[in-house]
Amino acid sequence: MQLATPNHLMGNNVWATSFAGTENRTAGDLGSGPERRADYELSSPSAMCNIPQHLMEPILLDVARERGAKFLFNTELMTMSQDANGVHSICRDRLTGEEFEVVSDYAIGCDGDNSVVVKSIGIETEGQMGWVRRSTFGLRPT
Ligand SMILES: Cc1cc2nc3c(=O)[nH]c(=O)nc-3n(C[C@H](O)[C@H](O)[C@H](O)COP(=O)(O)OP(=O)(O)OC[C@H]3O[C@@H](n4cnc5c(N)ncnc54)[C@H](O)[C@@H]3O)c2cc1C
Repeated sequence: MQLATPNHLMGNNVWATSFAGTENRTAGDLGSGPERRADYELSSPSAMCNIPQHLMEPILLDVARERGAKFLFNTELMTMSQDANGVHSICRDRLTGEEFEVVSDYAIGCDGDNSVVVKSIGIETEGQMGWVRRSTFGLRPT
């Protein structure tokens, strides 16, 4: 990854309440620290690197657009239902408040852990919440 930080330049990850706030944990995460480096090197032929979302996302968008994808930003999926004509998604433009319907042959849910899609199709979820908080306080190796 040309835009990513290579492993040998990845410093410590600092977990803090804010830039000037309480520092909860500092660790050489993602294989940059000696305690986990071997795990990472043994698990992949590629070296670990780190790229922030604001650099990664434009790469993914450009490739998807080259292949014909269209993106609507500032758009919230409100509800989703399915009938014989397809999937009906009610969306809201978060800048204007305008609601509109998108009808599609199918839909792929990738709306995170509080998913409208998952709730709309009635899938039950289970699991333990709060793992990020636990790892922040050093109770779980990262
Ligand atoms: C602080 C932190 C650090 C992390 N670091 C790492 C890491 O170093 N490496 C790693 O592998 N993982 C890391 N993770 C975990 C990783 O970010 C998540 O596992 C991953 O982002 C989940 O991807 P996702 O696509 O399922 O959901 P998300 O990334 O949460 O994407 C869901 C998207 O759907 C959108 N959305 C949600 N609801 C709606 C709606 N109703 N209408 C329209 N859009 C909607 C959201 O705005 C969001 O853009 C980290 C997580 C956190 C919080």
